[in-house]
Amino acid sequence: MHIHEYQAKDVLRSYGVPVPDGFAAMDADEAQAAAGKLPGPVFVVKAQIHAGGRGKGSFKELGADAGGGVRLARSADEVREHAAQMLNNTLVTVQTGPDGKQVNRLYVEAGSQIDKEFYLSLLVDRATGFTSFVVSTEGGMDIETVAHETPEKILTLGVDPATGFMPHHGRAVAKALGLTGDLAKQAGALAGKLYTAFMARDMEMLEINPLVLTGDGQLRCLDAKMGFDSNALSRHPDIAEMRDETEEDAKEIEASRHDLSYIALDGDIGCMVNGAGLAMGTMDIIKYHGGTPANFLDVGGGATAEKVAAAFKIITADPNVKGILVNIFGGIMRCDVIAEGIITAVKEVGLSVPLVVRLEGTKVAEGKKIIEESGLNVISADDLDDAAQKIVKAVGDLS
Ligand code: ADP
Ligand code: MG
Repeated sequence: MHIHEYQAKDVLRSYGVPVPDGFAAMDADEAQAAAGKLPGPVFVVKAQIHAGGRGKGSFKELGADAGGGVRLARSADEVREHAAQMLNNTLVTVQTGPDGKQVNRLYVEAGSQIDKEFYLSLLVDRATGFTSFVVSTEGGMDIETVAHETPEKILTLGVDPATGFMPHHGRAVAKALGLTGDLAKQAGALAGKLYTAFMARDMEMLEINPLVLTGDGQLRCLDAKMGFDSNALSRHPDIAEMRDETEEDAKEIEASRHDLSYIALDGDIGCMVNGAGLAMGTMDIIKYHGGTPANFLDVGGGATAEKVAAAFKIITADPNVKGILVNIFGGIMRCDVIAEGIITAVKEVGLSVPLVVRLEGTKVAEGKKIIEESGLNVISADDLDDAAQKIVKAVGDLS
């Protein structure tokens, strides 16, 4: 789960990490009032969406020249003008995709005088099991571009969880940033605090881009992107409360309510499968036969008929879905339960696209019988390959 920049900065502040002062604002009045509480003379108005590249982005409704999602202002009135322009409009950045994201919240913060911009992030390295710092002198830029063009300018430094953060890690981070003396000390201390926050709050990623050196010789985090391990959120109710559902895919939210693993994709064949491995195999074989999956969906091992029905409804609610493939291997899961779930859902929401069902395993005969006797227009398939070919063909015949 991701949170907004202003929320991430609150979390960082509580660990003593230096961030500029600022206030969240939901409307232009609040934005103006926020500026009144800051010393000035320079303010920064920042669109709060769960995507980066805001500074270089542009608003769909305003055109490319009107300014992006991070703007400088020199008075509270100017803050208000920017706020009024940004709110409720759609910001398009390299990370939002062409549809962009509607801006519903702003952050108004004190402007910093920037002498230098750095990059610093923390993430879990799955290969080593370490939490790793990724550090670069090339701040404020897209790190993927830096990694592509000048990979030698990026240093990765793993921290063994058995020792935790040690002073030498701090020195290595400072060295990678080219800092000496007091600034090296600041960098080491800052890295230690970020690591503490990362571990204590079960983060998955923390990206500070840019970390800046200000005109008065201070290191400060000007941007913060923070993601958390969803499986650990029950330990952090205060973080869970920061969830902004308007930033997430509505179908994914509904799926998480039913404890389904669901990820929306761009294709037109909806998939309902049990087990992540089988789900991936099913997506591969759809691709192999020339189709494109509309989603990844794993209903899990011991799904009930209600859960299957919920999953089916999520798939059919997607207007891009032109056909559905149900591929279930009944192990713990019984095929008759699956069949009942499908029929319950179809009775409730109808079925306007071709449906191919491949059932195999426990109680398969009972499952097939339930579907046959339902009178539903279901194309049945015997194995995975057959099922994929049938759904790709059925969808192809429609267009
Ligand atoms: P994004 O990465 O989404 O574009 P950032 O918060 O990194 O958003 O802002 C983009 C750029 O705007 C930064 O690289 C920095 O140069 C400038 N900026 C952001 N916040 C401030 C601030 N408080 N004071 C001065 N400049 C800022
Ligand atoms: Mg940034």
